[in-house]
Amino acid sequence: MSQESYDGGDLRNTGMRLKHDREWDYELDRIVDAVAKRDAETVGLQFPEGLKRRGPKVVDDLRERLGGDVTVMLSGQPCYGACDLDTYLMKRTDVFVHFGHSPMKESEKIIYVPLFSNVEVTPIIEEALGTLEGPEGSPDVGLVTTAQHMNRYGEMREFLEERGYEVHSRRGDERLTHEGQVLGCNYASADLPVDQVLYVGGGKFHPLGLAMEHPEKRVVIADPVNNVVTVADTEKFMKQRYGAVHRAMDAETWGVIFCTKIGQGRWEEAQSILADNDDAYLITMDEVTPDRLRNFDVDAYVNTGCPRITTDDGPRFHRPMLTPGEYRIATGEKPLDSLSFDTFHGTW
Ligand code: SF4
Repeated sequence: MSQESYDGGDLRNTGMRLKHDREWDYELDRIVDAVAKRDAETVGLQFPEGLKRRGPKVVDDLRERLGGDVTVMLSGQPCYGACDLDTYLMKRTDVFVHFGHSPMKESEKIIYVPLFSNVEVTPIIEEALGTLEGPEGSPDVGLVTTAQHMNRYGEMREFLEERGYEVHSRRGDERLTHEGQVLGCNYASADLPVDQVLYVGGGKFHPLGLAMEHPEKRVVIADPVNNVVTVADTEKFMKQRYGAVHRAMDAETWGVIFCTKIGQGRWEEAQSILADNDDAYLITMDEVTPDRLRNFDVDAYVNTGCPRITTDDGPRFHRPMLTPGEYRIATGEKPLDSLSFDTFHGTW
């Protein structure tokens, strides 16, 4: 994800990347227990990008507890979500630990360690009360957060209810573990009968996606990590999306990207594009980066993998990069006003 394209829309800028140091609970006892139970000889650890720097210290702590007979390995693969499990390392280790994301799919083999934030949330919600409508006259508010702050969801709800708000929440689809949780690609937990949603969490990455997915709702951001309250504004994002669609309208040849990361494959979507277009070519890859696509001589791309690569990193690619919905607009199958955010449902 490019820092220059959108400061707020960067997958690395989701509150896991901190301005101040923070103590996380790596749940080492749970890992040590699993090693003993499975008589494990190998342990694989996978950290998200923002926490990779903590990896060696966690290995040191584990080695001290496990002794010399257990080999502990760190995944060097990029990691931005639970959709992105290092399956190579997982297959080759007896215990595999994925840090920093909630499960997209439970498995006996994987230990998910959520790394909940210990940042206080109520002071920033207090400040957000000045930006939220109501409670007089408009007491309804949707409440969403990320996996990092899920441990304080009850506290957030109580704080708002005590001040007269009617808090609406729901669990989204099976891609989401918790009630009120959002992902960069899934905002089903905000499908609520409200005009305003309070997002509590670090960075603008999630609330911008939320506001694109629900343009009819006002999204107030209470960011306890950077200590700011703002209202999500998608104008810049949307202009870029329309620009990319317009640039792709003259395209004759298309690269259709099928992402091989375990939780990002949309095979049917890719197939349906190929079925209708003889000038579309299926390209399979795990990490979708500008460098890897530079040598393909096609006029435009449609990405069926992570939608945030398309919306947040799109400008970095040498050719227009569209979501499947945008592709259908560019090729004339759908009208321009059908442009909407590309959400990603289900697991694998
Ligand atoms: S597919 Fe969804 S969960 Fe995976 S990196 Fe993209 S936004 Fe995050």
